[in-house]
Amino acid sequence: MIKIDYEKCCFKDGKCSTCSCGGACDGCVEACPAQAITRDKLVEVDQAKCINCGICVSACKHEAISLV
Ligand code: SF4
Ligand code: SF4
Repeated sequence: MIKIDYEKCCFKDGKCSTCSCGGACDGCVEACPAQAITRDKLVEVDQAKCINCGICVSACKHEAISLV
């Protein structure tokens, strides 16, 4: 299953908190081929949709996602 480390994830309270871009992190949500990740207030994974491909792990530039 996919685990998100919310300490490392830059997306908090609906926007990127790492820099002053004010936008959404471009990474895991866009990379997931199963549309299993959503980005609303926080990034969340629908484990039922996830096919355990690991693409989101590589796509995350903050090493916030792991396949466990
Ligand atoms: S492991 Fe693959 S299917 Fe699962 S959330 Fe990550 S990118 Fe999506
Ligand atoms: S790619 Fe990584 S840092 Fe960006 S929203 Fe996804 S988990 Fe967070």
